[in-house]
Order: sequence, then C-alpha cells, then structure tokens
Amino acid sequence: MNIWWIRRDLRLADNPALAAALAAGGGVLPVFILDDALLSQPAEKRQGFLYAGLNILDEDLRRLGSRLIVRRGDPRVEIPRLAREVAAGSVFAEHDVSPYALRRDAAVAAQVDLRLVHGLGVHPAGAVTRPDGGPYTVFTPYSRAWKALPAPGQPLPTPAALPPVPELHSETIPDLPAPENFPPGEREARGRLNAFINGPIDAYGDGRNRLDLDGTSALSPYLRFGMLSARQAVVAARRAAGPGAETWLNELIWREFYQSILYHFPHVLHGAFRPALQSIPWRDAPEDLRAWQAGLTGYPVVDAGMRQLAATGWMHNRARMITASFLVKDLLINWQAGERWFMRQLVDGDPAANNGGWQWTAGTGTDAAPYFRIFNPVLQGQKFDPLGDYVRRWVPELAAVPEKYIHAPWEMPAEEQSASRAVIGRDYPAPIVEHAFARQRTLEAYAGK
Ligand SMILES: Cc1cc2nc3c(=O)[nH]c(=O)nc-3n(C[C@H](O)[C@H](O)[C@H](O)COP(=O)(O)OP(=O)(O)OC[C@H]3O[C@@H](n4cnc5c(N)ncnc54)[C@H](O)[C@@H]3O)c2cc1C
Repeated sequence: MNIWWIRRDLRLADNPALAAALAAGGGVLPVFILDDALLSQPAEKRQGFLYAGLNILDEDLRRLGSRLIVRRGDPRVEIPRLAREVAAGSVFAEHDVSPYALRRDAAVAAQVDLRLVHGLGVHPAGAVTRPDGGPYTVFTPYSRAWKALPAPGQPLPTPAALPPVPELHSETIPDLPAPENFPPGEREARGRLNAFINGPIDAYGDGRNRLDLDGTSALSPYLRFGMLSARQAVVAARRAAGPGAETWLNELIWREFYQSILYHFPHVLHGAFRPALQSIPWRDAPEDLRAWQAGLTGYPVVDAGMRQLAATGWMHNRARMITASFLVKDLLINWQAGERWFMRQLVDGDPAANNGGWQWTAGTGTDAAPYFRIFNPVLQGQKFDPLGDYVRRWVPELAAVPEKYIHAPWEMPAEEQSASRAVIGRDYPAPIVEHAFARQRTLEAYAGK
C-alpha cells in the first residue's frame, strides 16, 4: 500500500503523483491532512473552496472505487502515523515550492519514504535556469528559456479505476460555503478551460485588460488548487494557437516564474526582493488602510476592485494592479499590508503569485515596475473601463453617474451630483488623497533608494 498525499493537486486527470503511486503497485490510499498551521490563517473564501473541492474529489474517487481519507493535525506527525497504520511502502506527493512546504516535506521525508513528484508547473521550479545554472530574476529571459525546454507531453488520462481503500478513520470535512462564482472540481475547471479556449482566448491580447468584459479565463482558483494542471492549460493553449493563445501562455509562464522566484529566493515572503527597497518610509495610516480595504477611497475604479474582491474572492488582474498601486503609491502604505489583505480575501491566493504581484507593483521585486511609474487611477479607469460598467456594477451608489464623470465623480457640478443621487461626501466619499500630491510624496519617499 502506498499513500497519495494530496496537497494542492486536487485532481485525478493528469496527476503525476497519483500515477506514480499507482505504478508502484500494491494499492493507493488518497489522503488529505487538514493542516492546523495553514487552516488557522484567516482565508474563509479560499478555505470554503478547498473544502468543497475535497468533497468533490471524494465523490470522484468513490466513483472509481476509492475514497478520500481526511486527517487533521500536523502533517509531520499525521503522515508518518498513517504510514505506520497501513504499513505504507512509500508516500507520493506533488513537489511544492513555498518555504513552508519545503520545511514540512523535509521533516516528513526524515520519517517515511517520501517520493516528491513534479507537477505543479510544466517545468520543475529549479529547471529553468541561466546557462551558468543560476536562477533568472527577469521574466523575458526566463520565458525564453522556459519555451526552449522540451514541450510538455500529453496530459495523463484519468485512471479507469482505483484500488479499494481499507476501513480507516476519516475526519469530517469542515462545512464552509464555497464561493458562488467558483464551483470547485476538475470537471468545472475543464469546462471553463474549454469555454475559454473556444471563445475569449482569440481576443485575449486586448480583452484581458478590459475590466468590463469577461476576457480572461477565471481559472486561477483551479490552478491554485491543482483542479487543473499547468500542463493541461499549456497544452490547450498550444493547440488553440494564435496571438491570443501566445499571450495567455505567457501569463501561465509568469505563474511559474514567480514560483521559481519563491523557490530560489524565499526571503521575498518577509521583505523586498531588493533589500535597498526595504527601508522606504511607509506611512502608518490605519484609517486609509481600512478605507482601501472597504472600497471607500473615493476613486471609483479602486473601490470597484476592492469590492469585487470582498464580494467574490477574486479580482480582475488589471484591478489588482490598480488597487495595489493605489495602496502603495497613492497612500504610501507598505505593500506587505496589501499582500496580507489579498491573501486573506483571494480564492486563488497563492504566496508566489501574490508576493510577485505586490513586489512588482511596489517596484521592490525582481522584474518590477520602475518606482516612478505611478498609475493614475482616473486614467486607468477611463482606459480599461471606458463606459464605467465595471464601476457601476461594483459601486452601485454611482450607478446613475454620467459616463463623463464616472471615474472622477468629484468633478460633477452640484446639480449633477443631486440628479444622479451621488452627492460626494454624502452618498460616496471624496477622494481620500489627491493623486498629484500623492505622486510627488511617493517619488520623494523612493528617491535615492
Ligand atoms: C497584486 C497582485 C496580486 C496577485 N495575486 C495573485 C494570487 O494570489 N494568485 C494568483 O493566481 N494570481 C495572482 N495575481 C496574478 C493575476 O492577477 C491572476 O492570476 C489573474 O487575475 C487570475 O485571473 P485569470 O485566471 O482569469 O487569469 P488569466 O488571465 O486567464 O491567466 C491564466 C492564468 O495564468 C496565471 N497568471 C496570470 N497572470 C499572472 C501573474 N501576473 N502572475 C502569476 N500568475 C499569473 C494564473 O494562474 C491565471 O489563472 C496577482 C496579481 C497582482 C497584480
């Protein structure tokens, strides 16, 4: 009997760890450990998605003659305990790259025969390296090297049947509602992938930036928990071909780039990738932070993004860039406060991608935006939400504001404010900071760093 230890690979199709456990022979015990160290962190929406995903995985396993064994506690204790209980030969699991995962797996490997199998990305985290063997810290050469490696083979099929599982205690999966807009499971993920490949992918080059359109795949939560493998996504993109597919492939490579950064530079989780940028004189401004979190900054596109996040656990990439930039460059609040808030809210919250996104925005990261490039939230809104539909959807108090003022409602004459029932300071806040002033303040704070 071998253990298949499931962590962030909640799928039966194209699962190299499961395939390796099956190939070893003698039976497979699918196991998930509810890890107290991870689940004590506040992240209700992501946990709801995970729990519902585990229930679906269990149903899928039962259909093939197996089932999921769930235990709760510290995996460093629980996995060896279970291995003893069933006299397991080996434990198979997908290799993960976060410092926590690496420490945990090293501690488990000291007690049992742990076989880590690659599958988190198309290429293993340590495989895309410079000719001298060092890690890349800039995206373009990384992506070139990524593409130069052999193309991924065909995804593995779902096993036709699985060996039965002995009578064993299994914990109840906690009951938390799954986010409505993200029904979990690999069938749902494949359906979304197909719908995207047969439609929006062609226009993805421009469509991906439009806040008011569903121009992206919305697959991030599924990739986050491995309900879809990176290989399934990449093979589908390659088959779709065309410029839209090429751009989408690049985004999937960004995902692996940030995994590689986290793998090689784990310190990024604790501070700036570039240490010189650790000492920016951030403002301690709890009220401004709260206004940003609540979507009450007075900048409609920023507030729309933050409210989309709070309501759904997901935010459009362009809105992530705009809201992150606003926190860091308009409010001059430490990007790590934003990183924490996003991790708490996001269904797709992933330490590597989230940290990469925040460090990029703050200009403290690897291939980061230069510090002097500061998004103007009004212009960003006008460009990427031209009619204001995204704002009206998520900030309903601005629903009747004319197009001309939708991204700068404070410029509305008093009569228009009353007519559109959006009186600034009464129905919707005045801007909590003036952008031109904030821009100057940030340039000075970053200068010389
Ligand atoms: C401040 C900030 C924080 C972010 N936090 C996360 C996070 O916690 N988890 C997360 O998955 N993505 C994060 N991203 C990246 C990106 O915003 C999301 O992956 C994307 O919006 C998800 O939507 P989608 O599935 O429709 O993406 P698509 O545009 O369809 O892209 C396909 C897939 O590629 C990957 N991807 C796309 N863009 C990026 C990127 N810039 N970096 C890494 N992977 C990418 C995702 O897995 C995504 O599902 C963050 C970006 C920023 C600017």
